[in-house]
Amino acid sequence: MKTSGKALAEKVKQIKESDMLSIRSESLPTWCPGCGYFGIQQGLNNAIQQLGLSHHKIVNVTGIGCAGRYAFFNDAYGLHVVHGRLLPVATGVKMANPELTVFAVGGDGDGLAIGAGHLPHMVRRNVNVNYMLFDNSTFGLTKGQISPTSPIGTVSKASPSGNVDTPLNATLMALSYGATFVARLYAGDPKHNTAIIKEGIKHEGFSIFHFYSSCVTFDKVYKTWNNLKDNVHPLPPTYDHANLKHAIDHVLEDDFSMGIIYKND
Ligand code: SF4
Repeated sequence: MKTSGKALAEKVKQIKESDMLSIRSESLPTWCPGCGYFGIQQGLNNAIQQLGLSHHKIVNVTGIGCAGRYAFFNDAYGLHVVHGRLLPVATGVKMANPELTVFAVGGDGDGLAIGAGHLPHMVRRNVNVNYMLFDNSTFGLTKGQISPTSPIGTVSKASPSGNVDTPLNATLMALSYGATFVARLYAGDPKHNTAIIKEGIKHEGFSIFHFYSSCVTFDKVYKTWNNLKDNVHPLPPTYDHANLKHAIDHVLEDDFSMGIIYKND
């Protein structure tokens, strides 16, 4: 169904007036309709609003890629930096002014390919930055090439015979490097994510939020909404997120449990 100009204008007006979206900027997101990033943004906005964070004390440092556009869509300070370098820049921002709440926002291509070498150092320095890793296993902005998290066999226009490389597991990497707050979250569940994001923001140290998301435009086979929805599930009730060994063993066995995987205050 086609939306008329009048109906669209009314919708935009409603969005702008909505309390829940108060941190959204005047620029509406340019992500494809149905992109998982909308759900991630909603959870993050809810958390910011519920914590009562002042917009002028928030800095979003974003990388290159569709996720990197995030800085434009929020009413806060933003730095759109070069490919893969969001973590060192976010570190600098936080060191220069510890009063700020700093988010580093980027995709799996940005953070786990060209930028992957920064993650262990970010973890060992444990600077109080919140890393939002949007993982849809696709280089979306450059039209759907495989990424470091693409499953084996993933076919794209640039790899017609299928991916032959073992995918990286960002949650496991963060745990093995010694991260003190690790959450794995599903983009389609902003309500559940809000409480966890709030906890991560309050954590005094580096927090990583590994979001499983869908690229509806370029991936019709692997991380589709249906595939994710049918597989994600909460952590078991007996799960102990204060036990690192338990967390690592769990992540090795279960790729789709969502929640706070590890937290060490
Ligand atoms: S190309 Fe994919 S990741 Fe990029 S905005 Fe569109 S759906 Fe989202």
